Amino acid sequence: MGLLTGKTALITGGSRGIGEAIVLKFAAEGADIAFTYVSSEEKALAVKTAAEAYGVRVLAIRSDAADYTQAENLINEVVTAFGNVDILINNAGITRDTLMLRMSEEQWDEVIHTNLKSVFNLTKHVLKPMMKQRSGSIINMSSVVGVFGNAGQANYAASKAGIIGFTKSIAKEVGSRNIRCNAIAPGFIETDMTHVLTDEQKKAYIDSIPMKRLGTGEDVANACVFLGSNLSAYVTGQTLSVCGALNT
Ligand code: NAP
Repeated sequence: MGLLTGKTALITGGSRGIGEAIVLKFAAEGADIAFTYVSSEEKALAVKTAAEAYGVRVLAIRSDAADYTQAENLINEVVTAFGNVDILINNAGITRDTLMLRMSEEQWDEVIHTNLKSVFNLTKHVLKPMMKQRSGSIINMSSVVGVFGNAGQANYAASKAGIIGFTKSIAKEVGSRNIRCNAIAPGFIETDMTHVLTDEQKKAYIDSIPMKRLGTGEDVANACVFLGSNLSAYVTGQTLSVCGALNT
């Protein structure tokens, strides 16, 4: 029996990177899973097939987390299919990096909508079924950049800092209903998002990380298993850094 056997999980942005690692880890731990994507249909179907090999139910759904109505429809679809949602992981995120002087209104809005408004959209609609079942775990993907800031990422850092304030507030609002809400703050994790870095930049980052390596999607997925499972039954309103002590 896995740590998540009997639980259902909804993961936004599960077609690549950290989200893909979470889908596969959750499947290995026995959860039935619905995950979303926006453009990578082929990759999403490959992730679905790989996760199904663990003998769990897997739904891959195209749904834009930044869109309020699509988020509402998504939660309804998952509740209809699985009967409930035990774990919601707000993982979908993008970067549009540039210095403030060059940042367009569009680059600001795109990042805030995809990274922060999406967390509102999904949480808003998942709370009703979670309240009905009087349990739930919501996990929001923040970043060390949301805690410490980063030049060239004012839009991204603002979205990730916003997630931390949102997480603490929701934990206080719904704790009495046995619904928990935590954030994870990954450091530098090897995914498409960080592949844009040059080897020189990667080496500089690795030098600044006390554990002397970039993180993996699996490192973050393992933290999600802890926060999604009953192992963390009394943990809520927290931000768990998964960063090899970067910026600690
Ligand atoms: P990634 O490899 O670029 O993957 C992003 C995922 O999000 C993809 O599955 C993508 O779907 C999906 N997505 C993007 N916009 C979406 C939308 N509007 N609605 C639904 N899904 C959407 O990114 P990652 O590195 O795995 O990052 C995952 C999360 O961790 C993000 O929130 C990111 O900010 C955070 N994080 C990452 C790092 C890092 O070093 N990588 C560090 C700290 C925090 P498609 O495939 O269809 O495009």
